Amino acid sequence: MQFKDIIGQQPIKQRIIGLIQENRLPHALLLWGNEGIGKLGLSIALAQYLLCNNRQEGDACGECLSCKQIKKLMHPDMHFVFPIVKKTTEPICDDFLEEWREMITQTPYFSYQQWMDKIGDGKQGQIYSRESEEIIRKLSYKGFQGDYKVMIIWLPEKMNAICANKLLKLLEEPPEKTFFILASNQPEQLLSTISSRTQMIHVPNIATEDLQPIFGQEVARVANGNYVKALSIQNQAGESKIYFDLYRNLMLMVVRHDVLGVKNWAEQLHEMGREEMKNFLAYAQHITRECFILHFGASELNYLEVHEQDFAPKFARFLSATNIEFIMETFAKAVTDIEQNGNGKIVLFDTGLQLMTKIK
Ligand SMILES: [Zn+2]
Repeated sequence: MQFKDIIGQQPIKQRIIGLIQENRLPHALLLWGNEGIGKLGLSIALAQYLLCNNRQEGDACGECLSCKQIKKLMHPDMHFVFPIVKKTTEPICDDFLEEWREMITQTPYFSYQQWMDKIGDGKQGQIYSRESEEIIRKLSYKGFQGDYKVMIIWLPEKMNAICANKLLKLLEEPPEKTFFILASNQPEQLLSTISSRTQMIHVPNIATEDLQPIFGQEVARVANGNYVKALSIQNQAGESKIYFDLYRNLMLMVVRHDVLGVKNWAEQLHEMGREEMKNFLAYAQHITRECFILHFGASELNYLEVHEQDFAPKFARFLSATNIEFIMETFAKAVTDIEQNGNGKIVLFDTGLQLMTKIK
């Protein structure tokens, strides 16, 4: 992965390239910032630039053996650590290397949740204590191809305390020409003993004008610098429009006290199936919250999609501090009821009737 493959982030690229060219790359660098902005990609591009045998002015050559190996994510001197789940008693990242390569080859932009969806079966990820021994072992070898070795740690905040503590000495005094690149979404969750041993660089959200050529103006604006979000908006644009129509129809009937309409509406949504009902209820909670937030300033409109922007301010007038909690709880309860195999038709109908008592 070369710098040219990373969307936007020009100032950060310049800064990293400068650090390498001037031999000032710190032995432990912490790239931190929001999810979906390219920190993992930047870490790999950094490693590739460092390890490239024919470094160009502003990027790796992309042609040499080293570059080719990194492209396949199979360079013997570039190592990865990332959150994993417990499939064996003491799992290590290498157990998941195949899935990891698949994931990055598809795109280096993915969220923690997407990674968990790939490997997790609903479990939560962690970097387990045994990983520290692996890291120490891998870095104790001399570089295979050149001088440098790079250890990329994606989401170091997921490291358990035993692992983190075992790494302190190595982070403080790594072997010569060994570099740790940490890419963190939540640096405040890192042990201070870890973060204090790194040089921190804040990676900003991707500039909207850099997302715009790929996703168009609307999606770029709503994504707010998050590539993963932009992609998901693009993929779900059609879907969210369906949920929006269902929501708007429901609320119009609620306001008009159209009981029969709500009954038909519940039947229509029920026929779409259990997953769709749950998706709708998740969307309903999201859009209700967004509408309510409009009370605090119209700038929040920017985070709504086009088809929502006309409806939201009008509907916001029906929401207040006295009914918002009830409405959110009503939707949440509907999710629970449906998950516990309640009859969707009845649950949704009842939800509509409940809303009528408080939305006026
Ligand atoms: Zn190269």
